[in-house]
Amino acid sequence: MDEFALIRRYFAADVVRRDDVVTGIGDDGAVLAAPGPDALVVVADTLVAGVHFPETAPPESIGHKALAVNLSDIAAMGAEPAWATLCLTMPAADESWLEPFAAGFRNLAHHHGVALVGGDSTRGPRTVTVQVIGHVPPSAALRRGGARAGDLVCVSGTLGDAALGLASIQGSTRFDESCRQTLERRLHWPEARVSLGIAMRGIASAAIDISDGLMADLGHIVEAGGHLGAVVDVDELPLSHCYRTVLERVGLAPALAGGDDYELCLAVPAARLDDARHAAREAGAVALTVIGRFVDDFRGIRLEPAGRPFDTPDQRGWRHF
Ligand code: ADP
Ligand code: MG
Repeated sequence: MDEFALIRRYFAADVVRRDDVVTGIGDDGAVLAAPGPDALVVVADTLVAGVHFPETAPPESIGHKALAVNLSDIAAMGAEPAWATLCLTMPAADESWLEPFAAGFRNLAHHHGVALVGGDSTRGPRTVTVQVIGHVPPSAALRRGGARAGDLVCVSGTLGDAALGLASIQGSTRFDESCRQTLERRLHWPEARVSLGIAMRGIASAAIDISDGLMADLGHIVEAGGHLGAVVDVDELPLSHCYRTVLERVGLAPALAGGDDYELCLAVPAARLDDARHAAREAGAVALTVIGRFVDDFRGIRLEPAGRPFDTPDQRGWRHF
């Protein structure tokens, strides 16, 4: 199969149709109609085999995850996703890999109404780079730097499940069959909190998606906020039922420092908490949990209650270099 047949068969077929795509896959560039008065939000993320996913990961989940991690960045900006590009490097045009990979990508693209408008296909070590372009009213974009002392630290969903999914795959933590499936699914099939991000426009004062672990990503909000600290009550961390079955054995490190959850961490002014909860419910989004508050008497993150023994998680999160 040559390159063009491959593109036609797996990527140009059954893309989401959008009126704002003037020219999609097949020309030298995509022509996209600007989205009215909105500002564009552009994100990109690369997944490298052996670094971001094991070579043995199900190809359908790789297609899903490559798009999902980008949609998570779009969600953290409060933006609505519209278009995507896909740059795919692979050792061979292996149809038994391409078919499920493309299906995983396409199904999620359809779910979010995102049109694949271009990309590149090359031979080499397996690497997937996706770019997503979305839009948001310029003043409504959620940024990392907007948190203020007195705001509440809120997170969506539950924390640490993806890290436990990885521990399950690696055999370092054992679960019953139903939790094993649930947790490995959270690792391989992350859900981007797009509707929640949009619902938080005009309510949250800052947002980030938790890709590198709560401590690392909340740390970015604190750093971007200037002279800002965060106090996190570890008894309030939202843990799933499956996490609780191993809590005594694994402690809180997966929830505090585990990556790949793709939940949102938000700063919400205390007076807007009810609005935030209401908007999240209206959007059909996962529940928000208040886990702490922002303060201005120190910089960084403090875990409470003081004096309780914690496994000290690596606060820096994953670093490539
Ligand atoms: P060029 O030689 O101009 O770089 P290519 O042969 O790389 O063009 O690609 C031809 C068309 O197919 C372009 O419109 C490009 O955007 C699109 N394309 C190539 N690879 C992919 C892919 N993996 N997914 C989606 N579109 C792709
Ligand atoms: Mg090309």
